[in-house]
Amino acid sequence: MNPTDQALIRQNALFKGMDFESFDYMLEHSIVRSLETGERLLQPEAQNHHLHLILDGSLNVYLIAQESQEHTSLRAGECVGEVSLIDGKYPSAIVVAAEPCRILSIPYDTVWSLINNSRTVTSNLLSILASRLRNDNKTIVDTQRSKSHFEHQASTDALTGVYNRHWMGKAFPRALQRCSHNKQPFAVMVVDIDHFKKINDTYGHLVGDLALKTVAKCMAENLRPHDLLARYGGEEFAVLLTEADLDAAKMVAERLRAKIAAAEIRSDDISFHVTLSIGITPTQHNEKLEHLIHEADQALYRAKQAGRNRVEVFH
Ligand code: GH3
Ligand code: MG
Ligand code: MG
Repeated sequence: MNPTDQALIRQNALFKGMDFESFDYMLEHSIVRSLETGERLLQPEAQNHHLHLILDGSLNVYLIAQESQEHTSLRAGECVGEVSLIDGKYPSAIVVAAEPCRILSIPYDTVWSLINNSRTVTSNLLSILASRLRNDNKTIVDTQRSKSHFEHQASTDALTGVYNRHWMGKAFPRALQRCSHNKQPFAVMVVDIDHFKKINDTYGHLVGDLALKTVAKCMAENLRPHDLLARYGGEEFAVLLTEADLDAAKMVAERLRAKIAAAEIRSDDISFHVTLSIGITPTQHNEKLEHLIHEADQALYRAKQAGRNRVEVFH
C-alpha cells in the first residue's frame, strides 16, 4: 500500500492513536476496491460486512432514493458502514460513488477484533457515532422546520395573513365536531365588505388590497383566540365563533361592524372608510359546514338588501 494511502488511513477518525501492530493487522485483512461514478457501495436491500474508508474520491448518501436530494456526502478520509457494524442490520441508506473512488474495505470481524483489543478504537467509534447522530438530528429538525413553513404557507392567505379557504375546509368541520361533542353553542358568520368594487374602481386595486388587509387585521384583533377566521372569497370572510350563543354572536358581529365602520383607511393623501354586512347562523349540532355557510349567506343577502352596514340572523 502506498504511503499516501497509509497516512490517510492513519488520520481517519476511527484509527487515530491506534498502535502500529494493530494497524498492520488491519491492513493485512483489508482490501482496496475501485468504484466507478454512480456505482453503489451500500443499499438497504443488501447486507454489508465491511467498514469502508474512502481513500480517493467522494460518496453521496441518499436516505430515500438515488434520485432524491442527497442527505450528505463523504470525502476521502471518512468512513461509512459503521452503523450496520454495530447493530448487524442492513444499511439504512443508499451510498453511491459521486466520482471514481478508491475504498479500503475492512471486514467487520477485523474491526470487532480491533475494538475488543483497543480502548482507543472503541472511544473513536463512539465519537464518530455521536457526530453522526447529531448530524441526523439536525437534518430532522431542519426538515420539520421547512415542513411547518410549507404547511403554514399552504394554509394562509398571502395578502391578509389570515387563514385561507383550504384551511377553513379542514379546521371548521373539526371545530364544529368538537362543539357538537361538547354540546357547546356556536355561530357561523359570513362577512362581506360593502361596495368593494367601488373602492377598487375609485382608488385602484392596491388601495383595495390595503382595505382588505385592514379589515382582516381588525377582525383578527377583535375575535377571541378560540374563534376561527378565514378569508373565504375575494372580499368575504368566514368566522366560526365557538362557545357563543346567538346573543353573544350578535354582539360580536355588531362590535366588528362598528369597529370597521369607524376605522380610517389611509394611503398617502387618500383617506376613506369601509363598511361590512354580516350574516349569522346560530348553533345546529351535527349540521354540515356547507349548510351553515349557505344559511349565513342567506342572512348576509338580507343584510345587503336592507341597506348594508348591518348584521342579520338566518331564520
Ligand atoms: P356588495 O356590497 O354587494 O358586496 O358589492 P361589492 O362591490 O363589494 O361586491 P362585488 O362582488 O360586486 O365585488 C367584489 C369585488 O372585490 C370585485 C373584485 O374585483 C374585488 N376583489 C376580490 N378580491 C380582491 C383582492 O384580492 N384585492 C382587491 N383589491 N380586490 C378584490
Ligand atoms: Mg362578495
Ligand atoms: Mg362585497
